[in-house]
Amino acid sequence: MNAPGPDLIETSLYEVRRKIHPRAVSGLFARWRVIMVVLTQLVFYGMPWLQWNGRQAVLFDLAARKFYLFGLVLWPQDVIYLAVLLVISALALFLFTAVAGRLFCGYACPQTVYTEIFMWIERKVEGDRIARIRLDGAPWSPRKIRLKATKHLLWVAIALWTGFTFVGYFSPIRDLGGSVMTLTTGPWEGFWMLFYAIATWGNAGFLREQVCKYMCPYARFQSVMVDKDTYVVTYDTGRGEPRRGRARSADRQALGIGDCVDCSICVQVCPTGIDIRDGLQYECIGCGACIDACDQVMDKMRYPRGLIRYTSERAMVSKLSPAAARRRLLRPRVVLYASLWMVLCAGLLTALAMRSPLKVDVLRDRQSLGREVDGQWIENVYRLQVSNTTEQPMRLAIEAGSGTLAGVQVDGDMSAVALAPLSNRLLPLRVRVPIEKAGQGTHPVEFAIHARVLREGGSAAAVRPGNDVVVRQSSTFIVPAGL
Ligand code: SF4
Ligand code: SF4
Repeated sequence: MNAPGPDLIETSLYEVRRKIHPRAVSGLFARWRVIMVVLTQLVFYGMPWLQWNGRQAVLFDLAARKFYLFGLVLWPQDVIYLAVLLVISALALFLFTAVAGRLFCGYACPQTVYTEIFMWIERKVEGDRIARIRLDGAPWSPRKIRLKATKHLLWVAIALWTGFTFVGYFSPIRDLGGSVMTLTTGPWEGFWMLFYAIATWGNAGFLREQVCKYMCPYARFQSVMVDKDTYVVTYDTGRGEPRRGRARSADRQALGIGDCVDCSICVQVCPTGIDIRDGLQYECIGCGACIDACDQVMDKMRYPRGLIRYTSERAMVSKLSPAAARRRLLRPRVVLYASLWMVLCAGLLTALAMRSPLKVDVLRDRQSLGREVDGQWIENVYRLQVSNTTEQPMRLAIEAGSGTLAGVQVDGDMSAVALAPLSNRLLPLRVRVPIEKAGQGTHPVEFAIHARVLREGGSAAAVRPGNDVVVRQSSTFIVPAGL
Protein backbone atom coordinates (compact mmCIF):
# COMPACT_ATOMS: atom_id res chain seq x y z
CA MET A 1 0.00 0.00 0.00
CA ASN A 2 1.31 3.47 -0.87
CA ALA A 3 2.29 5.73 2.02
CA PRO A 4 -0.08 8.70 2.39
CA GLY A 5 1.01 11.76 0.45
CA PRO A 6 1.41 15.25 1.87
CA ASP A 7 -2.25 16.12 1.11
CA LEU A 8 -3.62 12.88 2.60
CA ILE A 9 -4.53 12.59 6.26
CA GLU A 10 -4.44 9.14 7.78
CA THR A 11 -6.99 8.65 10.56
CA SER A 12 -7.40 5.63 12.77
CA LEU A 13 -10.98 4.55 13.36
CA TYR A 14 -9.86 2.91 16.59
CA GLU A 15 -9.82 5.19 19.60
CA VAL A 16 -7.41 4.18 22.33
CA ARG A 17 -9.14 4.33 25.69
CA ARG A 18 -8.10 7.14 27.99
CA LYS A 19 -8.49 5.93 31.59
CA ILE A 20 -10.91 8.13 33.47
CA HIS A 21 -10.31 9.02 37.12
CA PRO A 22 -13.56 10.71 38.17
CA ARG A 23 -13.27 13.13 41.05
CA ALA A 24 -15.58 12.66 44.07
CA VAL A 25 -18.49 15.06 44.22
CA SER A 26 -21.22 15.83 46.71
CA GLY A 27 -24.57 17.54 46.32
CA LEU A 28 -28.22 16.90 45.53
CA PHE A 29 -27.70 14.54 42.58
CA ALA A 30 -24.87 12.66 44.32
CA ARG A 31 -27.25 12.05 47.25
CA TRP A 32 -29.90 10.73 44.86
CA ARG A 33 -27.38 8.38 43.29
CA VAL A 34 -26.45 7.03 46.73
CA ILE A 35 -30.13 6.58 47.61
CA MET A 36 -30.75 4.70 44.37
CA VAL A 37 -27.67 2.49 44.87
CA VAL A 38 -28.85 1.57 48.38
CA LEU A 39 -32.46 0.98 47.31
CA THR A 40 -31.67 -1.11 44.22
CA GLN A 41 -29.10 -3.20 46.07
CA LEU A 42 -31.36 -3.76 49.09
CA VAL A 43 -33.96 -5.12 46.67
CA PHE A 44 -31.49 -7.17 44.60
CA TYR A 45 -29.48 -8.69 47.48
CA GLY A 46 -32.42 -8.97 49.91
CA MET A 47 -35.27 -10.28 47.76
CA PRO A 48 -34.10 -13.91 47.34
CA TRP A 49 -33.87 -14.32 51.13
CA LEU A 50 -37.54 -13.48 51.70
CA GLN A 51 -39.86 -16.41 52.47
CA TRP A 52 -43.50 -16.88 51.46
CA ASN A 53 -45.70 -19.87 52.34
CA GLY A 54 -42.62 -21.78 53.48
CA ARG A 55 -40.74 -21.30 50.20
CA GLN A 56 -38.55 -18.64 48.59
CA ALA A 57 -40.79 -15.62 47.85
CA VAL A 58 -39.17 -14.82 44.49
CA LEU A 59 -37.80 -17.78 42.57
CA PHE A 60 -37.55 -18.38 38.83
CA ASP A 61 -37.47 -22.16 38.91
CA LEU A 62 -36.47 -22.95 35.34
CA ALA A 63 -36.12 -26.70 35.98
CA ALA A 64 -39.71 -26.97 37.25
CA ARG A 65 -40.83 -24.30 34.74
CA LYS A 66 -42.51 -22.19 37.41
CA PHE A 67 -41.93 -18.59 38.44
CA TYR A 68 -42.79 -17.77 42.05
CA LEU A 69 -43.52 -14.11 42.80
CA PHE A 70 -44.75 -13.97 46.40
CA GLY A 71 -48.33 -15.36 46.26
CA LEU A 72 -48.30 -15.69 42.49
CA VAL A 73 -47.07 -18.80 40.66
CA LEU A 74 -46.61 -18.36 36.92
CA TRP A 75 -46.54 -21.33 34.55
CA PRO A 76 -45.15 -21.52 31.00
CA GLN A 77 -48.71 -20.84 29.75
CA ASP A 78 -48.55 -17.52 31.61
CA VAL A 79 -45.74 -16.17 29.44
CA ILE A 80 -48.19 -13.53 28.19
CA TYR A 81 -48.00 -11.84 31.62
CA LEU A 82 -44.22 -11.63 31.36
CA ALA A 83 -44.53 -10.26 27.82
CA VAL A 84 -46.95 -7.56 29.04
CA LEU A 85 -44.59 -6.80 31.94
CA LEU A 86 -41.76 -6.27 29.44
CA VAL A 87 -43.94 -3.92 27.36
CA ILE A 88 -44.85 -2.00 30.55
CA SER A 89 -41.14 -1.68 31.44
CA ALA A 90 -40.30 -0.48 27.91
CA LEU A 91 -43.11 2.08 28.03
CA ALA A 92 -41.90 3.31 31.44
CA LEU A 93 -38.44 3.76 29.91
CA PHE A 94 -39.92 5.74 26.97
CA LEU A 95 -41.93 7.86 29.42
CA PHE A 96 -39.01 8.68 31.72
CA THR A 97 -36.76 9.40 28.74
CA ALA A 98 -39.32 11.73 27.13
CA VAL A 99 -39.64 13.62 30.42
CA ALA A 100 -36.08 13.75 31.70
CA GLY A 101 -33.67 11.99 29.33
CA ARG A 102 -31.48 9.17 30.61
CA LEU A 103 -32.78 9.03 34.19
CA PHE A 104 -32.57 5.23 34.16
CA CYS A 105 -28.92 5.30 33.00
CA GLY A 106 -27.86 7.85 35.60
CA TYR A 107 -29.56 6.36 38.63
CA ALA A 108 -30.89 2.82 38.24
CA CYS A 109 -29.00 0.98 35.48
CA PRO A 110 -27.00 -1.94 36.99
CA GLN A 111 -23.92 -0.74 35.07
CA THR A 112 -24.11 2.69 36.74
CA VAL A 113 -24.99 1.28 40.15
CA TYR A 114 -22.11 -1.24 40.23
CA THR A 115 -19.68 1.30 38.79
CA GLU A 116 -20.69 3.67 41.62
CA ILE A 117 -20.06 0.93 44.21
CA PHE A 118 -16.72 -0.04 42.68
CA MET A 119 -15.62 3.61 42.37
CA TRP A 120 -16.57 4.22 46.01
CA ILE A 121 -14.32 1.30 47.06
CA GLU A 122 -11.57 2.58 44.75
CA ARG A 123 -11.72 6.05 46.35
CA LYS A 124 -11.68 4.59 49.88
CA VAL A 125 -8.63 2.41 49.12
CA GLU A 126 -6.57 4.50 46.67
CA GLY A 127 -7.77 8.04 47.42
CA ASP A 128 -9.47 10.65 45.27
CA ARG A 129 -8.68 11.59 41.66
CA ILE A 130 -5.18 13.08 42.02
CA ALA A 131 -4.00 10.30 44.35
CA ARG A 132 -5.28 7.67 41.91
CA ILE A 133 -3.68 9.34 38.89
CA ARG A 134 -0.37 9.44 40.78
CA LEU A 135 -0.71 5.83 41.91
CA ASP A 136 -1.48 4.60 38.38
CA GLY A 137 1.52 6.52 36.99
CA ALA A 138 3.91 5.34 39.71
CA PRO A 139 6.15 2.28 39.23
CA TRP A 140 5.15 -0.91 41.04
CA SER A 141 6.09 -0.77 44.71
CA PRO A 142 4.97 -2.68 47.85
CA ARG A 143 2.49 0.14 48.59
CA LYS A 144 1.02 0.09 45.10
CA ILE A 145 0.74 -3.71 45.19
CA ARG A 146 -0.94 -3.56 48.61
CA LEU A 147 -3.46 -0.91 47.53
CA LYS A 148 -4.28 -2.59 44.22
CA ALA A 149 -4.59 -6.03 45.88
CA THR A 150 -6.90 -4.64 48.58
CA LYS A 151 -9.09 -2.96 45.98
CA HIS A 152 -9.34 -6.08 43.84
CA LEU A 153 -10.01 -8.29 46.84
CA LEU A 154 -12.99 -6.11 47.78
CA TRP A 155 -14.16 -5.91 44.16
CA VAL A 156 -13.95 -9.70 43.77
CA ALA A 157 -15.85 -10.24 47.06
CA ILE A 158 -18.69 -8.01 45.86
CA ALA A 159 -18.65 -9.57 42.39
CA LEU A 160 -18.84 -13.10 43.83
CA TRP A 161 -21.67 -12.14 46.19
CA THR A 162 -23.47 -10.57 43.22
CA GLY A 163 -23.03 -13.74 41.13
CA PHE A 164 -24.23 -15.87 44.04
CA THR A 165 -27.31 -13.64 44.53
CA PHE A 166 -28.10 -13.67 40.80
CA VAL A 167 -28.08 -17.48 40.68
CA GLY A 168 -30.12 -17.45 43.92
CA TYR A 169 -33.05 -16.11 41.91
CA PHE A 170 -33.03 -19.31 39.83
CA SER A 171 -31.97 -21.91 42.38
CA PRO A 172 -33.21 -21.79 46.03
CA ILE A 173 -30.66 -19.47 47.64
CA ARG A 174 -30.52 -21.17 51.05
CA ASP A 175 -29.70 -24.56 49.48
CA LEU A 176 -27.30 -22.80 47.13
CA GLY A 177 -25.54 -21.21 50.12
CA GLY A 178 -25.16 -24.67 51.69
CA SER A 179 -23.76 -26.18 48.50
CA VAL A 180 -21.28 -23.29 48.12
CA MET A 181 -20.10 -23.79 51.71
CA THR A 182 -19.57 -27.52 51.13
CA LEU A 183 -18.17 -27.03 47.61
CA THR A 184 -20.90 -29.24 46.13
CA THR A 185 -22.44 -26.69 43.77
CA GLY A 186 -23.78 -28.10 40.51
CA PRO A 187 -21.79 -27.33 37.31
CA TRP A 188 -24.38 -24.92 35.85
CA GLU A 189 -24.86 -23.05 39.10
CA GLY A 190 -21.08 -22.78 39.51
CA PHE A 191 -20.66 -21.62 35.91
CA TRP A 192 -23.31 -18.90 36.11
CA MET A 193 -22.12 -17.66 39.49
CA LEU A 194 -18.59 -17.24 38.13
CA PHE A 195 -19.82 -15.82 34.83
CA TYR A 196 -21.94 -13.18 36.52
CA ALA A 197 -19.18 -12.39 39.02
CA ILE A 198 -16.59 -11.95 36.25
CA ALA A 199 -19.04 -9.80 34.25
CA THR A 200 -19.63 -7.57 37.29
CA TRP A 201 -15.93 -7.28 38.06
CA GLY A 202 -15.00 -6.55 34.43
CA ASN A 203 -17.86 -4.16 33.62
CA ALA A 204 -17.83 -2.13 36.84
CA GLY A 205 -14.09 -2.33 37.52
CA PHE A 206 -12.55 -1.92 34.07
CA LEU A 207 -14.93 -1.29 31.16
CA ARG A 208 -17.11 1.22 33.01
CA GLU A 209 -18.09 4.07 30.65
CA GLN A 210 -17.14 1.93 27.62
CA VAL A 211 -20.17 -0.28 28.28
CA CYS A 212 -22.39 2.82 27.99
CA LYS A 213 -20.52 4.20 24.99
CA TYR A 214 -19.96 1.12 22.87
CA MET A 215 -22.05 -1.77 24.15
CA CYS A 216 -25.39 -0.37 25.29
CA PRO A 217 -27.87 0.24 22.43
CA TYR A 218 -29.98 2.61 24.51
CA ALA A 219 -27.51 5.50 24.07
CA ARG A 220 -27.83 5.13 20.30
CA PHE A 221 -31.61 5.32 20.04
CA GLN A 222 -32.30 7.75 22.87
CA SER A 223 -32.25 10.61 20.34
CA VAL A 224 -35.58 9.41 18.93
CA MET A 225 -37.13 9.46 22.40
CA VAL A 226 -36.13 12.98 23.40
CA ASP A 227 -37.35 16.24 21.91
CA LYS A 228 -36.86 19.97 22.48
CA ASP A 229 -38.97 19.85 25.67
CA THR A 230 -37.16 16.93 27.33
CA TYR A 231 -35.25 17.88 30.47
CA VAL A 232 -31.56 17.05 30.00
CA VAL A 233 -28.34 18.10 31.68
CA THR A 234 -27.44 21.33 29.87
CA TYR A 235 -24.71 23.93 30.07
CA ASP A 236 -26.07 27.48 29.77
CA THR A 237 -23.80 28.77 27.00
CA GLY A 238 -25.40 32.23 26.96
CA ARG A 239 -24.59 32.69 30.62
CA GLY A 240 -21.27 30.85 30.78
CA GLU A 241 -19.42 32.19 27.70
CA PRO A 242 -16.92 33.58 27.11
CA ARG A 243 -15.36 31.37 29.75
CA ARG A 244 -12.20 32.44 31.52
CA GLY A 245 -10.48 32.12 34.90
CA ARG A 246 -10.68 35.15 37.17
CA ALA A 247 -10.35 36.22 40.78
CA ARG A 248 -13.48 35.99 42.89
CA SER A 249 -13.52 39.75 43.25
CA ALA A 250 -13.26 40.37 39.48
CA ASP A 251 -16.11 42.28 37.81
CA ARG A 252 -17.17 39.91 35.03
CA GLN A 253 -19.41 42.51 33.39
CA ALA A 254 -16.53 44.95 33.12
CA LEU A 255 -14.29 42.19 31.80
CA GLY A 256 -16.95 41.06 29.31
CA ILE A 257 -16.75 37.42 30.37
CA GLY A 258 -19.36 34.81 31.27
CA ASP A 259 -19.93 32.88 34.49
CA CYS A 260 -17.81 29.84 33.57
CA VAL A 261 -14.45 30.15 35.31
CA ASP A 262 -13.05 27.35 33.14
CA CYS A 263 -12.03 25.31 36.19
CA SER A 264 -12.84 22.03 34.35
CA ILE A 265 -14.21 20.48 37.55
CA CYS A 266 -17.38 19.51 35.66
CA VAL A 267 -15.16 17.42 33.34
CA GLN A 268 -13.15 15.93 36.21
CA VAL A 269 -16.25 14.57 37.97
CA CYS A 270 -17.82 13.17 34.80
CA PRO A 271 -17.82 9.34 34.87
CA THR A 272 -17.80 9.24 31.06
CA GLY A 273 -15.08 11.88 30.76
CA ILE A 274 -16.98 14.32 28.55
CA ASP A 275 -17.19 18.09 28.65
CA ILE A 276 -20.86 19.02 28.90
CA ARG A 277 -19.95 22.54 27.74
CA ASP A 278 -19.58 21.06 24.24
CA GLY A 279 -23.34 20.38 24.19
CA LEU A 280 -25.48 17.28 24.69
CA GLN A 281 -23.51 14.17 23.75
CA TYR A 282 -24.63 10.56 23.49
CA GLU A 283 -22.03 9.60 26.12
CA CYS A 284 -23.83 11.67 28.78
CA ILE A 285 -25.72 9.33 31.12
CA GLY A 286 -27.53 12.21 32.85
CA CYS A 287 -26.01 11.48 36.26
CA GLY A 288 -25.97 15.15 37.29
CA ALA A 289 -22.44 14.99 38.78
CA CYS A 290 -21.40 18.02 36.69
CA ILE A 291 -24.41 19.97 38.04
CA ASP A 292 -23.35 19.32 41.65
CA ALA A 293 -19.73 20.21 40.86
CA CYS A 294 -20.55 23.42 39.01
CA ASP A 295 -23.04 24.52 41.70
CA GLN A 296 -20.23 24.26 44.26
CA VAL A 297 -18.00 26.42 42.04
CA MET A 298 -20.82 28.95 41.60
CA ASP A 299 -21.29 29.04 45.39
CA LYS A 300 -17.59 29.74 45.88
CA MET A 301 -17.70 32.50 43.27
CA ARG A 302 -20.94 33.84 44.80
CA TYR A 303 -22.67 33.48 41.41
CA PRO A 304 -26.17 32.08 41.04
CA ARG A 305 -26.36 28.29 40.83
CA GLY A 306 -27.53 26.49 37.71
CA LEU A 307 -24.88 27.29 35.08
CA ILE A 308 -25.20 23.57 34.36
CA ARG A 309 -28.72 22.38 35.11
CA TYR A 310 -31.57 20.12 34.16
CA THR A 311 -33.60 22.03 31.60
CA SER A 312 -34.98 21.63 28.08
CA GLU A 313 -33.48 22.82 24.83
CA ARG A 314 -36.55 24.96 24.16
CA ALA A 315 -36.36 26.55 27.62
CA MET A 316 -32.70 27.39 27.04
CA VAL A 317 -33.14 28.78 23.49
CA SER A 318 -36.43 30.64 24.13
CA LYS A 319 -35.40 31.66 27.66
CA LEU A 320 -38.54 30.16 29.19
CA SER A 321 -39.11 30.49 32.92
CA PRO A 322 -38.70 27.23 34.93
CA ALA A 323 -42.50 27.12 35.43
CA ALA A 324 -43.15 27.51 31.68
CA ALA A 325 -40.59 24.79 30.89
CA ARG A 326 -42.22 22.44 33.43
CA ARG A 327 -45.65 23.05 31.89
CA ARG A 328 -44.32 21.85 28.53
CA LEU A 329 -43.45 18.49 30.10
CA LEU A 330 -47.12 17.57 29.73
CA ARG A 331 -47.12 17.21 25.95
CA PRO A 332 -48.90 14.71 23.65
CA ARG A 333 -46.15 12.06 23.55
CA VAL A 334 -45.79 12.11 27.35
CA VAL A 335 -49.57 11.89 27.82
CA LEU A 336 -49.73 9.04 25.30
CA TYR A 337 -46.92 7.04 26.97
CA ALA A 338 -48.41 7.66 30.44
CA SER A 339 -51.94 6.68 29.33
CA LEU A 340 -50.74 3.50 27.59
CA TRP A 341 -48.63 2.64 30.63
CA MET A 342 -51.54 3.07 33.03
CA VAL A 343 -53.94 1.10 30.80
CA LEU A 344 -51.47 -1.78 30.51
CA CYS A 345 -50.74 -1.78 34.26
CA ALA A 346 -54.48 -1.81 35.05
CA GLY A 347 -55.04 -4.56 32.45
CA LEU A 348 -52.20 -6.69 33.85
CA LEU A 349 -53.38 -6.32 37.46
CA THR A 350 -56.97 -7.14 36.47
CA ALA A 351 -55.87 -10.17 34.43
CA LEU A 352 -53.74 -11.44 37.33
CA ALA A 353 -56.59 -10.93 39.82
CA MET A 354 -59.00 -12.82 37.55
CA ARG A 355 -56.53 -15.55 36.63
CA SER A 356 -58.09 -18.99 36.99
CA PRO A 357 -56.34 -21.25 39.54
CA LEU A 358 -57.19 -24.20 37.28
CA LYS A 359 -55.94 -24.63 33.71
CA VAL A 360 -57.61 -27.17 31.43
CA ASP A 361 -56.85 -28.44 27.94
CA VAL A 362 -59.15 -30.97 26.26
CA LEU A 363 -57.63 -33.21 23.58
CA ARG A 364 -59.73 -35.62 21.52
CA ASP A 365 -58.24 -39.08 21.11
CA ARG A 366 -57.39 -39.03 17.44
CA GLN A 367 -56.94 -42.82 17.29
CA SER A 368 -60.68 -43.50 17.41
CA LEU A 369 -63.47 -41.37 16.00
CA GLY A 370 -66.13 -43.06 18.11
CA ARG A 371 -67.10 -46.61 18.98
CA GLU A 372 -70.09 -48.67 20.05
CA VAL A 373 -69.97 -50.07 23.61
CA ASP A 374 -72.14 -52.93 24.90
CA GLY A 375 -74.57 -52.36 22.04
CA GLN A 376 -76.05 -49.47 24.04
CA TRP A 377 -73.68 -46.57 23.84
CA ILE A 378 -71.62 -44.50 21.44
CA GLU A 379 -68.39 -43.56 23.16
CA ASN A 380 -65.70 -40.92 22.41
CA VAL A 381 -62.41 -40.79 24.27
CA TYR A 382 -60.70 -37.55 25.39
CA ARG A 383 -57.70 -36.59 27.42
CA LEU A 384 -57.97 -33.72 29.87
CA GLN A 385 -54.75 -31.95 30.82
CA VAL A 386 -55.54 -30.26 34.16
CA SER A 387 -53.10 -28.01 36.06
CA ASN A 388 -53.51 -26.76 39.61
CA THR A 389 -51.72 -23.38 39.68
CA THR A 390 -52.29 -22.86 43.42
CA GLU A 391 -50.21 -24.00 46.36
CA GLN A 392 -53.19 -25.89 47.89
CA PRO A 393 -54.64 -29.26 46.86
CA MET A 394 -57.75 -29.29 44.70
CA ARG A 395 -60.67 -31.61 44.15
CA LEU A 396 -62.27 -31.68 40.71
CA ALA A 397 -65.71 -32.73 39.47
CA ILE A 398 -65.98 -33.20 35.71
CA GLU A 399 -69.25 -33.04 33.78
CA ALA A 400 -70.05 -33.11 30.07
CA GLY A 401 -73.06 -31.84 28.14
CA SER A 402 -74.14 -31.03 24.62
CA GLY A 403 -76.70 -28.71 23.12
CA THR A 404 -77.50 -31.14 20.28
CA LEU A 405 -77.16 -34.53 21.99
CA ALA A 406 -79.37 -35.72 24.85
CA GLY A 407 -78.11 -38.07 27.57
CA VAL A 408 -74.41 -37.20 27.39
CA GLN A 409 -72.57 -38.62 30.42
CA VAL A 410 -69.03 -39.12 31.63
CA ASP A 411 -68.13 -42.77 32.24
CA GLY A 412 -66.88 -43.64 35.74
CA ASP A 413 -66.86 -41.53 38.88
CA MET A 414 -65.29 -38.16 38.02
CA SER A 415 -66.85 -36.29 40.93
CA ALA A 416 -63.84 -36.15 43.29
CA VAL A 417 -60.62 -36.18 41.28
CA ALA A 418 -57.68 -35.18 43.48
CA LEU A 419 -55.13 -32.70 42.14
CA ALA A 420 -52.01 -31.99 44.17
CA PRO A 421 -50.71 -28.40 44.64
CA LEU A 422 -48.81 -26.99 41.66
CA SER A 423 -49.25 -30.16 39.65
CA ASN A 424 -50.46 -31.41 36.26
CA ARG A 425 -52.53 -34.50 35.56
CA LEU A 426 -53.52 -36.12 32.30
CA LEU A 427 -56.99 -37.62 32.80
CA PRO A 428 -58.36 -40.12 30.27
CA LEU A 429 -62.07 -39.44 29.89
CA ARG A 430 -64.74 -41.54 28.20
CA VAL A 431 -67.93 -39.77 27.23
CA ARG A 432 -71.04 -41.78 26.26
CA VAL A 433 -74.34 -41.12 24.56
CA PRO A 434 -77.23 -43.65 24.38
CA ILE A 435 -77.09 -45.21 20.93
CA GLU A 436 -80.70 -44.41 20.12
CA LYS A 437 -80.08 -40.69 20.75
CA ALA A 438 -76.79 -40.47 18.83
CA GLY A 439 -77.53 -38.82 15.49
CA GLN A 440 -74.78 -39.45 12.98
CA GLY A 441 -72.25 -36.62 12.51
CA THR A 442 -70.20 -34.18 14.58
CA HIS A 443 -71.78 -32.60 17.66
CA PRO A 444 -70.47 -29.90 19.97
CA VAL A 445 -69.74 -31.06 23.50
CA GLU A 446 -68.84 -28.94 26.50
CA PHE A 447 -66.89 -30.02 29.57
CA ALA A 448 -67.46 -28.24 32.86
CA ILE A 449 -64.64 -28.78 35.36
CA HIS A 450 -65.59 -27.68 38.88
CA ALA A 451 -62.56 -27.17 41.12
CA ARG A 452 -62.61 -26.76 44.87
CA VAL A 453 -59.45 -25.52 46.55
CA LEU A 454 -58.88 -27.46 49.79
CA ARG A 455 -57.22 -26.53 53.01
CA GLU A 456 -53.67 -27.58 53.79
CA GLY A 457 -53.56 -31.40 53.94
CA GLY A 458 -56.53 -31.88 51.66
CA SER A 459 -59.35 -31.72 54.21
CA ALA A 460 -62.77 -31.58 52.64
CA ALA A 461 -63.50 -28.10 53.99
CA ALA A 462 -63.37 -25.64 51.13
CA VAL A 463 -61.31 -22.49 51.45
CA ARG A 464 -64.01 -20.61 49.58
CA PRO A 465 -67.18 -22.57 50.32
CA GLY A 466 -69.84 -22.26 47.67
CA ASN A 467 -67.43 -20.44 45.41
CA ASP A 468 -65.92 -23.24 43.36
CA VAL A 469 -64.01 -22.38 40.23
CA VAL A 470 -65.65 -23.62 37.05
CA VAL A 471 -63.66 -23.91 33.82
CA ARG A 472 -65.52 -24.73 30.62
CA GLN A 473 -63.90 -26.22 27.53
CA SER A 474 -65.49 -27.16 24.20
CA SER A 475 -64.74 -30.10 21.94
CA THR A 476 -66.61 -32.32 19.49
CA PHE A 477 -68.43 -35.64 19.85
CA ILE A 478 -68.34 -37.77 16.72
CA VAL A 479 -70.92 -40.37 15.81
CA PRO A 480 -69.39 -42.22 12.83
CA ALA A 481 -71.50 -43.38 9.93
CA GLY A 482 -72.57 -47.03 9.89
CA LEU A 483 -72.73 -47.63 13.65
S1 SF4 B 1 -17.59 23.50 36.68
FE1 SF4 B 1 -18.84 25.19 35.95
S2 SF4 B 1 -17.42 26.89 36.06
FE2 SF4 B 1 -16.16 25.09 36.15
S3 SF4 B 1 -15.62 24.68 34.02
FE3 SF4 B 1 -17.48 23.51 34.45
S4 SF4 B 1 -19.09 24.89 33.76
FE4 SF4 B 1 -17.29 26.15 33.98
S1 SF4 C 1 -21.87 15.31 31.39
FE1 SF4 C 1 -22.62 15.55 33.48
S2 SF4 C 1 -24.54 14.43 33.55
FE2 SF4 C 1 -23.47 13.80 31.68
S3 SF4 C 1 -22.37 11.94 32.33
FE3 SF4 C 1 -20.95 13.67 32.57
S4 SF4 C 1 -21.22 14.30 34.70
FE4 SF4 C 1 -22.96 12.99 34.21
